[in-house]
Amino acid sequence: MRRWRTTRGADVPGLDEKLETIYDEVLRRNPGETEFHQAVHEVLDSLGPVVAKHPEYADRAVIRRLCEPERQIIFRIPWVDDRGAVQINRGFRVEFNSALGPYKGGLRFHPSVYLGIVKFLGFEQIFKNALTGLPIGGGKGGSDFDPKGRSDGEVMRFCQALMTELYRHIGEYTDVPAGDIGVGGREIGYLFGQYKRITNRYESGVLTGKGLAWGGSQVRTEATGYGTVFFVDEILRTRRDSFDGKRVVVSGSGNVALYAIEKIQQLGGTVVACSDSSGYVHHEKGIDLGLLKEVKEIRRGRISDYAQECGDPARYVTGESVWGVPCDIALPSATQNELNGADAAVLIANGCSVVAEGANMPCTPEAVRAFGEAGVTFAPGKAANAGGVATSALEMQQNASRDSWSFEHTEQRLASIMRGIHDRCLTTADEYGSPGNYVTGANIAGFTQVADAMLALGII
Ligand code: NAP
Repeated sequence: MRRWRTTRGADVPGLDEKLETIYDEVLRRNPGETEFHQAVHEVLDSLGPVVAKHPEYADRAVIRRLCEPERQIIFRIPWVDDRGAVQINRGFRVEFNSALGPYKGGLRFHPSVYLGIVKFLGFEQIFKNALTGLPIGGGKGGSDFDPKGRSDGEVMRFCQALMTELYRHIGEYTDVPAGDIGVGGREIGYLFGQYKRITNRYESGVLTGKGLAWGGSQVRTEATGYGTVFFVDEILRTRRDSFDGKRVVVSGSGNVALYAIEKIQQLGGTVVACSDSSGYVHHEKGIDLGLLKEVKEIRRGRISDYAQECGDPARYVTGESVWGVPCDIALPSATQNELNGADAAVLIANGCSVVAEGANMPCTPEAVRAFGEAGVTFAPGKAANAGGVATSALEMQQNASRDSWSFEHTEQRLASIMRGIHDRCLTTADEYGSPGNYVTGANIAGFTQVADAMLALGII
């Protein structure tokens, strides 16, 4: 066996011939799907010591089966815009793995969505969901629809058109979508309404992220951001440290970013910068969360509006990376591959000591390698941002028992799940000879959970 440097930082004995053959097969069978290749490579990177210890995984083709989605659905979404013109988008649902439970994962509305993005997200989701310890499989979906600049009526008609096809593939025991980029409470409402209309069933458990008045869970809106911060809080606790007095940069200003900022502030940290796809705002005194929520959640405005309306000196910057703002902790919470090797070098030079992924795969392999070499603690998204899907599973639990829990109770459950994921990552990393490596720990712990279930269920 040769030495293998992982894309996510650690130098472990690893990717043996069998794994390399599997990766080559993934490249051959899924041409052009670069994000999917990246996500698969990252997991295979960690699995060298696992296949050495457990030859049965390779013998029963568990990894090869895991890399092939159980089902991939691509469909046409025709709808009529406000001018009366017919628009056509493409819809996707990739039902990746159901060894642990019904497929679970969000829907993304963004013009960049194509099969490779949905497959990368679905693949990640399998291991993330396994890490939560809850009975949920992995899936993901979405559309190349761009909600920016669309009226409320257009968004509603688009959601109805999408659900007119999707409804036949989903169900509380089959596949349970939720939100992601471009899909929040408003969109989940329109999707649920159309599902209910078509099926004539009030099947609350078919979608998560619902409104509190009609089957939603407390803390679901906050869960991914809060969960990421709880995870970092655990990392800091292992060093006998805390958020108190820390400078933090959070990228994005959507669902994950807003509630990460909220929890950081509650824990005594100062968020000095956040962003959207047009630029970032640097606010040295700390982001005014009330104003940010008003601009982003209520008015669906831009981060430049925040800077303009903010009484204090807040600087709006375009054409530069938000990672240039000095910080102790960085939470990339916008989108995939938004933090590259050069950004990592700047963060390291500025003394950043913890990076946790609020978004899915926001750090490029080069960035992750740089963090590993510099001794920066790095928490991968499949562990750090699992709080969203975990709380979705809690929403499913409440729906199944026709119950609804208090905010405090649900938040405590979330915090305890994040602690559990954190500890499992560390224990597994120790067990496989990479102490302190959250990437190795998350990949192996998630993988073995799913792989054991797949072995038990036979060749299916
Ligand atoms: P969201 O509410 O739609 O917000 C996305 C934010 O990212 C927006 O501020 C958006 O700015 C910004 N953004 C998008 N593309 C960008 C780019 N190329 N460069 C810089 N900024 C960009 O989405 P979200 O739910 O917060 O999701 C953010 C990330 O977290 C995604 O990777 C998602 O998969 C992941 N995630 C979400 C959840 C969840 O529960 N929502 C759970 C787990 C993981 P614009 O408004 O300018 O586009």
